[in-house]
Amino acid sequence: MSKIFAVANQKGGVGKTTTCVNLSASLVANKRRVLLIDLDPQGNATMGSGVDKSELQLSSYDVLASLLPPRKAIVPTTSGYDLMPANIDLSAAEVELLEMDGRESRLRQALEQISDDYDYIIIDCPPSLNMLTVNALCAAGGVLIPMQCEYYALEGLSSLIDTINQVQQAANPNLKIEGILRTMYDPRNSLTSDVSDQLNEYFGDRVYRTCIPRNVRLAEAPSFGKPALEYDRSSKGAIAYLALAGEITRRHAAAHQNSNNSNSGP
Ligand code: ADP
Ligand code: MG
Repeated sequence: MSKIFAVANQKGGVGKTTTCVNLSASLVANKRRVLLIDLDPQGNATMGSGVDKSELQLSSYDVLASLLPPRKAIVPTTSGYDLMPANIDLSAAEVELLEMDGRESRLRQALEQISDDYDYIIIDCPPSLNMLTVNALCAAGGVLIPMQCEYYALEGLSSLIDTINQVQQAANPNLKIEGILRTMYDPRNSLTSDVSDQLNEYFGDRVYRTCIPRNVRLAEAPSFGKPALEYDRSSKGAIAYLALAGEITRRHAAAHQNSNNSNSGP
């Protein structure tokens, strides 16, 4: 199982950034070493981690466009995870990358230099299937797909899955769907449970058991530059992301155990 996750869904507003920031903080609370990479020119993960995007000296733009050694762009956060921040400069990389050699694998090359420093690397993707998202999919071993359980959500999922399949065939055979995360979940809504049933039918155990409820603390925390765990640790949102971190680390421990057992042989 991979420890590099691309958090992707080309739909905006489904909870990608909220998931990246809160999952990173929750994995730290589970004593894991975590790097969060902001790969969205909007810089929401950067701001939500308490780092001012307008004052960046170096950012993920420099790593992708100029092959800056990634450690130079990484900053610590008060939540205990490291951050490779981003701002609007990154929108230039989207265009510049198109002209470059190995344009899909620039991030992968960069992460090879630092992957031993971390237990988990989480990549916050922009809301489109562009060259930045393709870089994240080439660098990652797993895709975490946050989605709201509403009708059109499933429609959007098929183009994301097509892109994942293309990247798998062309550049990254190890890539797989790590998990589908139901966000802004409201079990009282009947459409939510219909879509949720369809997801379970199609993706089976790749749908995380943990659901993230709609919770105002999750929406408020970014304006304080904090994950919900720091802003209000007893909120339902903070607790749900801790549960997700627990589910992910347990899955990894179980997969590790299985591969050790099969390696040791009869
Ligand atoms: P994306 O990165 O996919 O565009 P965001 O994580 O930025 O989505 O979320 C979109 C908006 O919804 C933000 O204002 C965020 O604060 C809010 N939000 C995300 N998840 C929740 C949730 N579980 N409960 C309430 N608000 C949420
Ligand atoms: Mg976002």
